[in-house]
Amino acid sequence: MLHFDDIVFGPIFSRRLGSSLGVNILPSKGKLCNFDCVYCECGWNKDGIAERTFPTSAQVEEALEAKMSKAVEEGVPVDSITFSGNGEPTMHPEFPEIIDVTLRMRDKYYPQAKVSVLSNAFLAGREAVAEALMKVDNPILKIDASNDRLIAKINKPCGPYHLEKVVASLRRFEGNFILQTMFLKSPDFDTAAPEALAAWHDIVRELRPRQVMVYTIDRETPDKSLAKYTVEQMAEFVKPLVEEGFDVQIRG
Ligand code: SF4
Repeated sequence: MLHFDDIVFGPIFSRRLGSSLGVNILPSKGKLCNFDCVYCECGWNKDGIAERTFPTSAQVEEALEAKMSKAVEEGVPVDSITFSGNGEPTMHPEFPEIIDVTLRMRDKYYPQAKVSVLSNAFLAGREAVAEALMKVDNPILKIDASNDRLIAKINKPCGPYHLEKVVASLRRFEGNFILQTMFLKSPDFDTAAPEALAAWHDIVRELRPRQVMVYTIDRETPDKSLAKYTVEQMAEFVKPLVEEGFDVQIRG
């Protein structure tokens, strides 16, 4: 049984987003993702509860309406509406409809609020998914490494993933997205090794995202052999891009 609070939660206050509503359109228990990242805060896919009930777009609309009308009534500010949850939101079969519903609710109750979607971009090659992502204010799209071999180790895609194809899909955004990249290493890989880093710089130059957000592991991760980077090290990794005028945000 789905509860409204499972779908729309908050608002939560953060310095970065202000007062933010969270939207989780994935099954409320367990994790559902087409990646199985070594650093995923939701744990491994295999340990997730095999519950597959998605909220419908009508339920999402109802949950947004209930939450936002109450917030307006109580004079609670909402600066942003962010899709993040236990997995990959674009896997929802009604993802495009849900984006339309959300934008409609945003326009009705908090027209100044920004809608953000965190996605691993695996499905960005699907026309309807790409179009929906292009409609939101902040599509925050992940590329963690610069070749398929490294991605297989870090993100462990569930199904055929070709970085080249994902990059081609993201080219269609004409830079109007935020690229998110996690820097990390383990005894088995290092996303900031010189060759890998240079190739990642080239991907950024090709896609020209309006912002690049780099970060490192923060909380406990399912793979215990991972090591994080410091803010200073990440500043070195992105230095050539900053010098070329890219807007790069670093989160330690
Ligand atoms: S893409 Fe996100 S939700 Fe999916 S496995 Fe990676 S970190 Fe977890």
